Amino acid sequence: MALGRPSVLPDRVPTVRELLASGERSFSFEFMPPKTDEGERQLWRAIRELEALQPTFVSVTYGAGGSTRDRTVDIVERVAHETTLTPVAHFTAVNHSVRELRHLVGRFADAGVRNILAVRGDPPGDVSAEWIRHPEGVLYAEDLVRLIRQSGDFCVGVAAFPYKHPRSATIESDTEYFVRKCEAGADYAITQMFFEADDYLRLRDRVAARGCDTPIIPCIMPVTQLSTIGRSEQLSGAPFPAALARRFEAVADDPAAVRRLGIEHGAEMCQRLLDEGAPGIHFITFNRSKATREVYQRLNHTAPALSA
Ligand code: FAD
Repeated sequence: MALGRPSVLPDRVPTVRELLASGERSFSFEFMPPKTDEGERQLWRAIRELEALQPTFVSVTYGAGGSTRDRTVDIVERVAHETTLTPVAHFTAVNHSVRELRHLVGRFADAGVRNILAVRGDPPGDVSAEWIRHPEGVLYAEDLVRLIRQSGDFCVGVAAFPYKHPRSATIESDTEYFVRKCEAGADYAITQMFFEADDYLRLRDRVAARGCDTPIIPCIMPVTQLSTIGRSEQLSGAPFPAALARRFEAVADDPAAVRRLGIEHGAEMCQRLLDEGAPGIHFITFNRSKATREVYQRLNHTAPALSA
C-alpha cells in the first residue's frame, strides 16, 4: 500500500558507519513485519510518529520464514522510498542458500538500502532447537558479514549479547566469536535487550580488552506491562533482574504504575548509558511509538525535540 508520497531516496543514503562517525549520538528504532492488515496500519502509524524524531536509522527485523520475510523486504524498500528515514534491514542465514542470500542483498541494493544487520537467526518455532545449516548456506553471522561485504558497498551491523548468547559455552568464547565477527567486517553492533546498564558496560569492557573498538549500540525495550518481563526473558534468554522484578511486583495491581515505572527505569538506564559514553540507544518498539517517545523525551541529549 503506497502512501502516495514522492520518493525521497537521495542519490546516496548515508551509512550507519558514517552517521556514527559524525560523533552525534545515534537514536534508532526497531520494527518488525506485521502479520495482519491492522498490524500493517499500526506499524506505519508508529513509523510516521517516530519519523518526527529524526532518528539516525530505523531497523526492520527478519522473520524465521514464510511471508513475513517478504514483508521485511517490502517494508525496508518502502521506508527507503517513501520516508526521510535511513532503513537498516535485518538479515538472517536461516533456511537460505548462499544464492538466495546474494539475491536478497541484491534486492536491497536495488532499493538503495546500504545498511544491513547480519544476524544468524534462530531455528523457526523452538529457538533452542538445534541450528541446522542450509545445505548450501552459511553457519555463522561472521560468514554473513563476509558475504555482504563481498557483495558491494554495504555497512554491516551485527548482534552482541550482554549476558552472552544462550548457545555460547562461556563469556570468553562469546567475546572471542563476537570480536571475530567485527574483524570479518562489521561496522557496529547492536545488543540484545538488557535491563541494567552495568551489563552493557561489562560487555563493552570485555570487547575493548580484546582490542576491538567496534561501536556497540545498547538496545532497550521499555517495560510497559508485566507480560513484557516474561517476553523479554524469552527473547533475551536471560533472567530479568530480581531486584527490578520486585519493584514491578510491588505495583503489579496498578497497570498505570507499572507503565510509569517502566518508562522511568528505561529513561534512567538510557541516560546512564549515554553518560557512560554509549554511542546511542536502539529502541525495540513492538511497532508502537508511545513508550519509545516517552523515554526519548526524558533524555538529556541534543537530538531533535518532539513537537507533539
Ligand atoms: P552468531 O554470531 O553466528 O553466534 C551464534 C553462536 O555461535 C554464539 O554462541 C557464538 O558465540 C557462536 N559462534 C559464532 N561464531 C562462531 C565460530 N566461528 N565458531 C564457533 N562458534 C561460533 N533473529 C531473527 O531471526 N531475526 C532478526 O531480525 C533478528 N534481529 C536481531 C537483532 C539484534 C540486535 C539481536 C541482538 C538479535 C537478533 N536476532 C534476530 C536474534 C539472533 O538471530 C539470534 O540471537 C541468533 O541465535 C544469534 O545470532 P548471531 O548473529 O549473534 O549469531
